[in-house]
Amino acid sequence: MTPTYTNTDQRRIARYLGMTVGAFQKKYLRQERGGDRDWLNRSTPCPFLNLSDNKCRIYSVRPADCAGFPHLKKRFADYGHVHHQNIDLCPATFELVRRLQDSLSA
Ligand code: SF4
Repeated sequence: MTPTYTNTDQRRIARYLGMTVGAFQKKYLRQERGGDRDWLNRSTPCPFLNLSDNKCRIYSVRPADCAGFPHLKKRFADYGHVHHQNIDLCPATFELVRRLQDSLSA
C-alpha cells in the first residue's frame, strides 16, 4: 500500500527534506503507468516509516493522502475500491463497512 503524492505534496516534502523535487522523485517515488500517472512510493514499506517506533518521519508534512486516511469523509462511491483494499488493514475502515452493512440489512 502506498500513498499518492500530489505535486503540492512533493514540493512541501522535498522542501522539508532539503531536496529538490526532482531529487525527491528520483530517490523515493515512481510514477504509475497509464491511468492518472500518480506518483507513488518507490519501495515498501513506506520509506518515511520509522521502523523502530512505527512513526512517520515526515508527519508534519505527510502527503494529503496520508493525512486524510482512512478517507471516511470522502464520497463512499469514489473510495469504495480503497476501502476494499484497506478493510483487512484498518480498523476504522472495517468499522465503516460493518456499519454500512448493518444499515443496509436493517
Ligand atoms: S503517514 Fe508517513 S509513514 Fe505512513 S504512509 Fe504516509 S508518509 Fe509513509
